[in-house]
Amino acid sequence: MKIAFIGLGNMGAPMAGNLAQAGHDVTGFDRADVAVEGVAMATSAAAAVANADAVVTMLPNGQILRAVADEVIPAMQEEAVLIDCSTVDVDSARAVAQQAADADLLSVDAPVSGGIGGAAAGTLTFMAGGTDAAFAKAAPLFDIMGQKAVHCGEAGSGQAAKICNNMILGVTMIATCEAFALADKLGLDRQKMFDVVSTSSGYSWTMNAYCPAPGIGPQSPADNSYTPGFAAELMLKDLRLSQQAADSADADTPMGQIATAIYEQFVEQEDGLGRDFSAMLPRFEKRSRS
Ligand code: NAD
Repeated sequence: MKIAFIGLGNMGAPMAGNLAQAGHDVTGFDRADVAVEGVAMATSAAAAVANADAVVTMLPNGQILRAVADEVIPAMQEEAVLIDCSTVDVDSARAVAQQAADADLLSVDAPVSGGIGGAAAGTLTFMAGGTDAAFAKAAPLFDIMGQKAVHCGEAGSGQAAKICNNMILGVTMIATCEAFALADKLGLDRQKMFDVVSTSSGYSWTMNAYCPAPGIGPQSPADNSYTPGFAAELMLKDLRLSQQAADSADADTPMGQIATAIYEQFVEQEDGLGRDFSAMLPRFEKRSRS
């Protein structure tokens, strides 16, 4: 397949590299001066997509996605599919899908889980929204860049699944960290806390697979001085998207709202910027009730 890849940053570069390594003819474009092995670089997004069967975008936010879509959709060839893997607001995902449909193009919103490690290893999970035909056309590329792709429903459903998942993740990480900090103050050994909770009804992915306490549980960013991993500012981005979606859908999400406020404070007023989102534990360690 001829594939155009727009947005070759931390995630996009290894994803595009994996597509090229699998034997596809990949042309890339990024507004920054980047090079990816096996990927030919175009001088504009429109030039990159001109002869492509599939166009993959991996961009920072919905505003940039909309601007790139304005440029590439008119330049795409008939029967090509637009696959947006960025994490963006549901409204932008739906607007771009509508724009693609109006131009008789297939499109799918397909945000990912798995981070930079998953992008490099080709083990991402894709959450996809779009028609059956669009999903079917994108699926072989998901198989190369990832290990699992779930077709969640119509346009926007991939983004909806992503932000609901990450809202749970943010809330659960805070709950796990505040419980560890309370356990410390109650004199409970952290290993005992892990042994009990990880096999009791308080278990979760944040406790069992990504334990925020150094030296406890499987290897996690806590064992590497809270170097991300998944940076606190990216968690904040996704929590904000969840609250934007909750506003627009008139959904009551009190825990998501509180988690957003706590990560906002952590990233913007404390020392959370650039640290893994599990560094919420040392934050709670330093705090008292008042
Ligand atoms: P990044 O900032 O490293 O990469 C984004 C790239 O897009 C940059 O290279 C930038 O130059 C390029 N870009 C910006 N505007 C452009 C334009 N108009 N035209 C062409 N290129 C443009 O970000 P990233 O970490 O690769 O994340 C990309 C997306 O994936 C985001 O939406 C993020 O939320 C999501 N995501 C990231 C992770 C992660 O762990 N990094 C995990 C899951 C999802």
